[in-house]
Amino acid sequence: MTFDLDMIKKVYEQYPQKIAAARNVLGKPLTLSEKILYTHLWDGAASQTFERGNSYVDFAPDRVAMQDATAQMALLQFMQAGKAKVAVPSTAHADHLIQARVGAESDLQDGINKNSEVFSFLSSVCDKYGIGFWKPGAGIIHQVVLENYAFPGGMMIGTDSHTVNAGGLGMVAIGVGGADAVDVMAGMAWELKMPKLIGIKLTGRLNGWTSAKDIILKVAGILTVKGGTGCIVEYFGDGAISLSATGKGTICNMGAEIGATTSTFGYDDSMRRYLSATGRQDVVDAADEIAEHLTGDAEVYANPEQYFDQVIEIDLDTLSPHLNGPFTPDLATPVAEFREKALANDWPINIEWALIGSCTNSSYEDLSRAASIVEDAVAKGVKPVAILGINPGSETVRFTADRDGFLDSFRKFENARIFTNACGPCIGQWDREGAEKGEKNSIIHSFNRNFAKRADGNPNTHAFVASPELVAAIALAGRLDFNPITDTLTNQNGEEIKLNEPSGMELPPKGFDVGDNGFQAPAEDGSGVVIKVNPESDRLQLLTPFQPWDGKNITNARVLIKAFGKCTTDHISMAGPWLKYRGHLDNISNNMLIGAINAYNMETNTVKNMVTGEYMEVPASARVYKAEGIPTIVVGDHNYGEGSSREHAAMEPRHLGVKAVLVKSFARIHETNLKKQGMLGLTFNNEEDYNLFLEEDTINFLDLDQFAPGKPLLLELVHADGSKDQIVTNHTYNQAQIDWYIAGSALNLIAAEANK
Ligand code: SF4
Repeated sequence: MTFDLDMIKKVYEQYPQKIAAARNVLGKPLTLSEKILYTHLWDGAASQTFERGNSYVDFAPDRVAMQDATAQMALLQFMQAGKAKVAVPSTAHADHLIQARVGAESDLQDGINKNSEVFSFLSSVCDKYGIGFWKPGAGIIHQVVLENYAFPGGMMIGTDSHTVNAGGLGMVAIGVGGADAVDVMAGMAWELKMPKLIGIKLTGRLNGWTSAKDIILKVAGILTVKGGTGCIVEYFGDGAISLSATGKGTICNMGAEIGATTSTFGYDDSMRRYLSATGRQDVVDAADEIAEHLTGDAEVYANPEQYFDQVIEIDLDTLSPHLNGPFTPDLATPVAEFREKALANDWPINIEWALIGSCTNSSYEDLSRAASIVEDAVAKGVKPVAILGINPGSETVRFTADRDGFLDSFRKFENARIFTNACGPCIGQWDREGAEKGEKNSIIHSFNRNFAKRADGNPNTHAFVASPELVAAIALAGRLDFNPITDTLTNQNGEEIKLNEPSGMELPPKGFDVGDNGFQAPAEDGSGVVIKVNPESDRLQLLTPFQPWDGKNITNARVLIKAFGKCTTDHISMAGPWLKYRGHLDNISNNMLIGAINAYNMETNTVKNMVTGEYMEVPASARVYKAEGIPTIVVGDHNYGEGSSREHAAMEPRHLGVKAVLVKSFARIHETNLKKQGMLGLTFNNEEDYNLFLEEDTINFLDLDQFAPGKPLLLELVHADGSKDQIVTNHTYNQAQIDWYIAGSALNLIAAEANK
């Protein structure tokens, strides 16, 4: 058994009393989202209300999941917390680093060979600290979580934006940065702004060529990529109940594409069926005892406008299949309108590749429905035009689909490629022949994201998103404007044939089966496990704790860079080729602030170094100051650090000797990340003071030695001509955060407490 039944039972035991407390403070019927949020408050049962879209709240998630790219730094940090084991059940999944090229067997071996040091590091850390490890080839994080760990009414966080997939089993599951995962694994609270709530009422039933995917493609068209920001999307209504649990998972998965915090559905029979089919009847039995708490109150769903911040209604009876794209998942086009729109926009119509799978759409139901299209076409003598690629979501699905003949159905496609159970083409891990030529072309897939370069690295690949069954039909036609509802295909005898509507099975009639599911259970006692990191590695580096504060004022500091305008976490710690170094702080620090514009010359990555007197790249300049023992500060503009919650953007400056970041305003998550890493994050009391900072200034802190909550800090700028300015800076550190600063980082403090 991989899931933690005791933990789930404990959560459920507390539900009735916590729901009663939530009802008491809120004084109204409750949505499902509120029930899950208010039963997971860090301080226990609710004693106050929190304002949606405004209050910051501490939560206690039940689980943590990490994927291999983000797990590296998260676990390197966790190792510093001084804990023997993780505080909540956690898993890591080797799925992002395996490239798709020729097919599962050789691709998997190549992936293991290329990434062996990362995989063995993850394996040993997981073993030591009580974390379940899903080995390369075991599957994609979110499919594996749905199959093994998600449970109705639970709350989890994961270091991947599509963690939200677990809403298909009625969870509040949220994608976060590594630092948040570390906090929760180390036994700390996790903070989130109380989300707003969007209710989506589904009426009618899916029919013909429409599938669950079309619901979220339609929703994306309505709400756009920003419409769900700061919100939980809660689905309800008869139409919601009629969907399979994995169909619900697909809808929640792509909630990330509308920017939603997460999406969820109430507990129902589809979840019971799925939990039972995946070996979790015990969870069903436990959930059934508190079933009324695992869905929204009837009055909420009867009068949704009163209880949600926004309500949308979609009639599944009249919903049509959609193709969304290119380059953005919210450009939604019903299949019947596609031809005209494609012509008007000069989108390439012919396709060479069609892809099915990813964490979004690789359930047994998805594969069975897509296979039914292929079988029908083969029986009618139709030869496929495009190449069909399949990346199953897990070994359990792959094994079962293979046993039940679906993979053989796909193999009847002359050019079908069954890729590894991993992310592959969904995250640019696709060695597509000819992509480097950059030719304008189109592909279709059943994944979630379709931004430029996402699949094959070619900025001119127009990627369209559709349901697996529509992807299969379009692969047969080789044309994006093929509408299987109205159009015909020509078979080998020259006859015009029409495809049957897709048919499939929600769950395998003979049950799921698997040989080796790829799970590595952690050691019972991990104290003797040795973590394997080669000191010569350029991809992994054990972390050294940051130095505690010496209690003194920072003096004679230099301005490393005064950033002009937008400075996101991507400007501070660029992605792309740097992803390779996510587990090596010193190497990845060579990308520090290389995307930021230097306000003194309006160029990127060229700053004046006051030791050498020369213009240098930002990381190189920081290293010169660090070697000379000269503290530095970074000055910035508004909303500094917006973008992803990547902790590298705070760790790199800390590593390269930056002592303070002083800006007009912060993106809140980045400000918190700076605090956690033992850095000073300050804002100008008077924004105009930004202009006082000159390139050759020396900066002295005048009263940092009296650092206290709510007390502004005074800085003195000594200009090159000897003149001086004094400025007031503000901060938002509370006493606990000042204690992090004193200790050198939040993790240092946790470690000190663990060692007491
Ligand atoms: Fe992310 Fe795609 Fe992997 Fe899903 S399959 S976890 S969306 S990269």
